[in-house]
Amino acid sequence: MKPWGSTTPWERFWRKVEITLGCWNWTGAKQSGGYGNFWDGTRNVLPHRYILGHVPEDMEVDHLCSNRLCVRPRHLEVVTRDVNVQRQEARNPRPRRSNGTYGHTWQQPALEGLVAQLNS
Ligand SMILES: [Zn+2]
Repeated sequence: MKPWGSTTPWERFWRKVEITLGCWNWTGAKQSGGYGNFWDGTRNVLPHRYILGHVPEDMEVDHLCSNRLCVRPRHLEVVTRDVNVQRQEARNPRPRRSNGTYGHTWQQPALEGLVAQLNS
């Protein structure tokens, strides 16, 4: 049975990814936890795990950009559960990255203020 014709799961995957200069955002189905959901032809998987190929079951994928829908490999790191939990705690209440390279909305007001100062 080929419900998607000759389309491979990998091709279907990319149709649901919005590539930006910062994050590559998953635009397909989502889970209740805010993560993406992708049917790979056999089972439901997390898009950010799927894109990395085989990730051992006991390892977790950490979003370095704190964007749960991001699937950009550069923004992902395979870590142990312990490390992931530690990082989550360290990130709250503010994200770890503050250098503005990821272009998330939480950084924009600060960035705009800086630009305004430089222009005044
Ligand atoms: Zn990202």
